[in-house]
Amino acid sequence: MKHHTTHAAALLAALTFCTASALAACPPGWQGEYEWFESEEHPSGEMRMVWDYQIRIAEEQGRCQAWLTGDGHSMMMRILADVQGDARAVRLLYREALPDAGPGSGGERGAELLRLERRERELLTHWGTMTPNAEDAKPGMRFRQKQSAKKKTGSAKKPAAQDAGAFSAADLKRMSTFVSNFTEVGFPDFDMTGSGSAPPNPALIYFGIRHNYTNNFKHRVEHCAEKGCEHGSLVMDAKFVAESVRKYFDLELKHRSVSSGEGWLSCHFDGRLYHFEAADGELASEAKVTRAVREGDIVRMTGDIYLEDDPNNAVGSFVVTAKPHMWNGKKTWAILSLKTENR
Ligand SMILES: [Zn+2]
Repeated sequence: MKHHTTHAAALLAALTFCTASALAACPPGWQGEYEWFESEEHPSGEMRMVWDYQIRIAEEQGRCQAWLTGDGHSMMMRILADVQGDARAVRLLYREALPDAGPGSGGERGAELLRLERRERELLTHWGTMTPNAEDAKPGMRFRQKQSAKKKTGSAKKPAAQDAGAFSAADLKRMSTFVSNFTEVGFPDFDMTGSGSAPPNPALIYFGIRHNYTNNFKHRVEHCAEKGCEHGSLVMDAKFVAESVRKYFDLELKHRSVSSGEGWLSCHFDGRLYHFEAADGELASEAKVTRAVREGDIVRMTGDIYLEDDPNNAVGSFVVTAKPHMWNGKKTWAILSLKTENR
């Protein structure tokens, strides 16, 4: 009962505070989820900083509200906002920081965080007190409405085949295997969507060697024929390294030696083989995709990371975007971006 009293008090406070129009249900067509992703290279050039934003607009207790979250470099935004507007545009007005809020959640009550506007088939974001981290703050196509995969209402009218976001459990499992290829070798974050760039060459060489070392040791790794070879006791044909990069990244690898000072697996390319040293027995991590959303041709996969020997406790989470890719006549994906976070 006490719970209800608290809500009633809050509602009363809202009644006194807001104008009558703000109390109406959500403006037509705006309830749903929106997302946006931006990234920028760190000044050091060693990593990309990423920010992942989500907005959920829904009616609760007779009020139209928006939950804004933003996760990424130095940011953990958790904001509850009031939504005002009409079918054409809505304003998101700062209400309060949510209990688990971190950096980027502050604001003044009633301040316009941003405005979303529909113009023909486009959705425009006009920035207010909330501004991008990397991109410019000019109005533009930023937030996009998510294609809901689990929309129950109206499913009778809409055939499943038209539901662009729907993936089967088997699809998610295949995606988990796909993403695990990157998490198991501890591949660093990168983003080659938009203005981003491909992972550095030594990172791709590292991937090609470690991927085959982990998954094809028996058939593709051999001992170096040269006794006491200064470049390492193992060798792998460079064609396998290039093949894995082509398969998982859809990129052509430029072969070269990598020195230990470059911060990657050091290896020597002799024109045909890569010479390298055996890796320490680190615990590999596996990825489990819990959600996948289509964004045009691209698939955004999100999920958790587990250590191989402990499938019940997630040690991190990830966001991967990938494009459809054909490999040996089979439909698979090629990765476009990877963002991981430790728990
Ligand atoms: Zn060697």
